Amino acid sequence: MKIAISKKLVNLKPYGCARALANEGVLMDANESPFGKFNRYPDPFSLEVRRALSEFLNSGVENIFVGNGSDEIIDLLIKAFCDYGDKVLIPKPTYGMYEVAAVINGAKTKFIELKSNFQLDLEGIFRTLNDGVKIIFLCSPNNPLGNCLNDKDILELCGRTKAIVVVDEAYIEFASKKSLVGAVGKYPNLVILRTLSKAWGAAGIRVGYAVASKELIEILFRIKSPYNVSVLNQEAAIKILKNPKNMMKNVKSILREKRRITGILEKLGMAIFPSETNFILFNVPKSVVIQNKLQENGVVVRDRSKEPGLKNALRITIGKRSENDFFLVELEKCLKKVAFIDRDGVILFEPQDTFKIDSLMAYRILPGVVEGLKLLLMAGYNLVMVSNQNGIGTENFPTEDFLIPHEKMITDLAKEGIKFEKIFVCPHMPDDKCKCRKPKIGLVKKYLEENPINYGKSFMAVDRETDMEFAKNIGVKGYKARCNADYLLKIAKKITR
Ligand code: PMP
Repeated sequence: MKIAISKKLVNLKPYGCARALANEGVLMDANESPFGKFNRYPDPFSLEVRRALSEFLNSGVENIFVGNGSDEIIDLLIKAFCDYGDKVLIPKPTYGMYEVAAVINGAKTKFIELKSNFQLDLEGIFRTLNDGVKIIFLCSPNNPLGNCLNDKDILELCGRTKAIVVVDEAYIEFASKKSLVGAVGKYPNLVILRTLSKAWGAAGIRVGYAVASKELIEILFRIKSPYNVSVLNQEAAIKILKNPKNMMKNVKSILREKRRITGILEKLGMAIFPSETNFILFNVPKSVVIQNKLQENGVVVRDRSKEPGLKNALRITIGKRSENDFFLVELEKCLKKVAFIDRDGVILFEPQDTFKIDSLMAYRILPGVVEGLKLLLMAGYNLVMVSNQNGIGTENFPTEDFLIPHEKMITDLAKEGIKFEKIFVCPHMPDDKCKCRKPKIGLVKKYLEENPINYGKSFMAVDRETDMEFAKNIGVKGYKARCNADYLLKIAKKITR
């Protein structure tokens, strides 16, 4: 397969830089200074770095191109293969630089959403391929999602298109699957992008590399700027690449920390995206507010919620153990501890004949309730009441009859300084088949969606089995009291101990 280079480059005569011709002898060809430690231009071919990479990857030196970070190579690839108006296909969500580099170079972007399992929508991609697409950018493991794309899909795509298929493996060293570097011999249109910025711990030196067919690598050399990787970068890269064991040790340690943090985030109730990288993406309500709060308190994380399908998603990079611990402490401070509390039989005495508190005569706050609620408030809990009331507004239970004792309860508790953040009441009958009667969670659904809750520390105090089920359905621990028992104080003491 002949690779179709951008038309603008067909007749390009590459700039013949001085150090490409000679770098030994009395060097009087490049208008360098004879003085100074860094007086000479760097090797334009980054040969030593490529040799070190070739050993590490078991690939030919001629199959490797070194860039000033892989970001430079993304830019070069678009320059190399796209003319003005050509298309770059980007399955989303993914790393943002593919789009930016395309736009800067006058290429058009075509987005296609990843499937709900975050894999390639191959059918969708094949439908768009004939439409002037010159490059497809795939990111595996993907940023910011964290998952790997299926190799089978990637290779099928390579085999069925003339477009350049770029697989950005910036995070591959953290993944459980192997790199696709070995496949470049078979697919002349496949480019693997890698970097020293992640697992190798060298983001500061700006060294990324591409592995591809010799023909494709030569194209990149023809169009790059003459001295794209500085002497300092090259020296540092050579040194770092000498110690892959150190890199692997650090990867192991980062993965260990990732497992630990994932476990803790899960306990806090976060929905976590599976990650094969050194970062974790998770969902938390009000992610932007949390990101800002964390930043105010000295922890910088990345909100990714503007990406398609990633509402309320935050991304954290795994740091050192002490940094991760600091993040977790600060994150917990952003989360609400909620005491969900049933009303009848837990806060108010529930008559065991009518099961209705429908007059001031029937109204009585149970012993221990005031002290228990005060204890919870002091411990930083938000109080949320969740109550089923059979048929409020019916002949059997006029609204007024419900409201009079209910409002007295609110006033009496307020006098003690006790305020409920929310009071949710289902007014329906069991036969109404409403969505809000406990153990269904309709009453609190919106509250749960809108509030970042510490599910590890939140709980529900109840007196019935169905409410224990409700607690389970919302994801908190249930504590069951005997109906009308002096129990809430005991629960509160246990929780706040
Ligand atoms: N690709 C991906 C997927 C990335 O996440 C990043 C950095 N965030 C890069 C490439 C850029 O890497 P480099 O430092 O090599 O330019």
